[in-house]
Amino acid sequence: MKTNNLGYPRIGVKRELKKTLEDYWSGQCGHEDLLLAGSSLRRHNWQLQQSVGIDLIPSNDFSFYDHVLDMSLLVGNIPERYLPLLEKLSFQEADLLFAMARGYQKDGHDITAMEMTKWFDTNYHYIVPEFRKGQKFRRFSDKPLREYREAKELGIETKPVLLGPVSYLLLGKEKEPGFHRLELLEDLLPVYVSLLEEFSALGVSWVEFDEPYLALDIDHDSYAAFVQAYQVLKATHKTGAPRILLATYFEGVADKIELLRTLQMDALHIDLVRRPEQLGELLPNLPETMLLSLGVVDGRNIWKNDLDHSLRLIGQAKDALGEERILIAPSCSLLHVPCDLAAETDSKKLPGQVKNWLAFAQQKLEEVVLLRQLASAPQDPELARKRQEHQRHIAERKNSTLIHNPKVKERLAQLSPQDFARKKPFAQREQAQVEKLRLPLFPTTTIGSFPQTAEIRRVRAQFNKGEIGQEEYENFLRKEIERVIHWQENLGFDVLVHGEFERTDMVEYFASLLQGFALTKNGWVQSYGSRCVKPPIIYGDVARPQPMTVSWAKFAQSLTKKPVKGMLTGPVTMLQWSFVRDDQPRSETAFQIALAIRDEVRDLEEAGISIIQIDEAAIREGLPLRKKDQPHYLDWAVRSFRLASAGAKDETQIHTHMCYSEFNEIIEQIAALDADVVTIECSRSQMELLDAFRDFHYPAQIGPGVYDIHSPRVPTEQEITALLEKAVQLLPARQLWVNPDCGLKTRNWPETEKALSVMVRAAQKMRARLAGTEQAMR
Ligand code: GLN
Ligand code: ZN
Repeated sequence: MKTNNLGYPRIGVKRELKKTLEDYWSGQCGHEDLLLAGSSLRRHNWQLQQSVGIDLIPSNDFSFYDHVLDMSLLVGNIPERYLPLLEKLSFQEADLLFAMARGYQKDGHDITAMEMTKWFDTNYHYIVPEFRKGQKFRRFSDKPLREYREAKELGIETKPVLLGPVSYLLLGKEKEPGFHRLELLEDLLPVYVSLLEEFSALGVSWVEFDEPYLALDIDHDSYAAFVQAYQVLKATHKTGAPRILLATYFEGVADKIELLRTLQMDALHIDLVRRPEQLGELLPNLPETMLLSLGVVDGRNIWKNDLDHSLRLIGQAKDALGEERILIAPSCSLLHVPCDLAAETDSKKLPGQVKNWLAFAQQKLEEVVLLRQLASAPQDPELARKRQEHQRHIAERKNSTLIHNPKVKERLAQLSPQDFARKKPFAQREQAQVEKLRLPLFPTTTIGSFPQTAEIRRVRAQFNKGEIGQEEYENFLRKEIERVIHWQENLGFDVLVHGEFERTDMVEYFASLLQGFALTKNGWVQSYGSRCVKPPIIYGDVARPQPMTVSWAKFAQSLTKKPVKGMLTGPVTMLQWSFVRDDQPRSETAFQIALAIRDEVRDLEEAGISIIQIDEAAIREGLPLRKKDQPHYLDWAVRSFRLASAGAKDETQIHTHMCYSEFNEIIEQIAALDADVVTIECSRSQMELLDAFRDFHYPAQIGPGVYDIHSPRVPTEQEITALLEKAVQLLPARQLWVNPDCGLKTRNWPETEKALSVMVRAAQKMRARLAGTEQAMR
């Protein structure tokens, strides 16, 4: 029996990677420093895994930005617009990587970034590969080889991890019509073959190919692609060549057993946290010599492993396959959990008792090792003592009084259908809102947050350390709000925001004010590139002891006659971007959060706020990966949003915001949220997704994001105008709002000022051009 790991967090316990990246981008450190920081993070991770006792330690799981982008570079899939950059003197591989991820607007170049989207149902974003008809691949980078050798020099044998060829293609997107990206497989495979040959020459013993799509609903062509790909890869599989571990996660593969038998890989990794039941279905049918890596430790959540439960699964596998054919592992890469629980020392944020219930990446690997030891030597007294100690916390958590709040449970039990519906249908509410708000055509607004400058972060840190008092801190925030309210008025915005300066994060802020949530100090998880989030931990029933946003919204509204939007985070997003309790259905937790938000909506209305935005940035991301599970999720997700918002008066305009493309599948449910306005991300995909809104005859109003805030690039007025012109072709002008893609928190002020003034100008010109025309009335 061996232990296996699929990937370790790359950002570092103290977000070392983030700091280095940002220093490099701002020119505060050089290329050498960047490389050094990378190798020191890798060294730390490898040595840690070695000392914990992991047998199959991953390499090439590190990335300076994203592992899918690394693959694009590896196979030479570099969109043409970046090629001129390659001719630049002193342009390094990392610079190309960053240009592709972030766009490049320097020295006379103005090159847009690649699209970014969510990695399956996680909050990790990858850079979407772009494909063209008949395109050719070639080995462009030697990163996996470099990193394997680097570890070897430290005396550590590693298992290079690569995204498998089929999933790599499926994760991408055709950038021109007339072909399917799977047609490129044949040309792509030789690059993988040549890598395998080089691994073989280096004496690599295991290679991992991640094929998460194998665990999803796939069509016939994808099925055939898997067969083709792995037949070719296996053909290069001479003696001494590395053995291949095929890794699947986030769903089960029991329905693919025939395919797995055809592929005949040396080992298969399965996710037994998401789909424990697949074990029983796979064991009797597994190809004879295949090893099975049992993903029993949750790589997506932070609860301590229930060793008894895992040992039952391991025992079942052991009986069927024998010890030699078993690997024990986390369910997926540990990219999705924070590094080390030992870094949590603030008991105000994370009470000691709750901390006892948790395991972060390092602790999860320790659990993997302990499980292996226990599975081989259950009678060992020292191990038995460890097991008992560990299981004591598992039992404690189940029965803890910290968790259960009878009042909340009672209120949930008493809900009736009226609680989930606004009083009047949209058409009637719209009239009431038009009369109350008197907004022009193409109203302009932003998504909520403004740049969180170094000064804001400094003052907040001072406040958190107790160096300045509450009053001084709040005065500072009020000054910031005053400044941005006037700034927005001057620029000509129609609906203003207060800027969210009091929030470190749209989820953490509410979590800090709600009962049932705990926070961490260093629990960082990578979201995209250098951006990390610190998901709160929902450990108990959720309740709102007092209003959370009212005083800020009220203050902001007192400064202007224009409407100021109240800003709340929706129940599904709170859930999705937190580590959620696993002792009750997610839907129940979502409804509890919804009730808290509902009360906040009522308090905001009472304070005179006439527009309230409830962000549901993550509804799409929570969509189950398998079709058969989707209807149930969508049903409770929609109902929890409605529970949060439906208490509002007719004339109160409810906005919601979502940050992703790919709406087509869930457009009906978006309509079913019954929000009055929805703002969505779509500038990177050139408004493609508006097609869905047109075909479906979306009833309410829409603010398609007109520029990409994830890139520092400032859009031109022509670009925005072009997008707006496209939007009015697809939808009646009176249904349209003008806003950026998402909040502006991560941007700086100079960029933001430029971009927003371009945006407002473009909207005003559109308004003038269309005033009184038929298009405006339609
Ligand atoms: N209101 C939030 C903000 O502007 C929304 C962020 C998001 O959707 N991710 O920051
Ligand atoms: Zn967003």
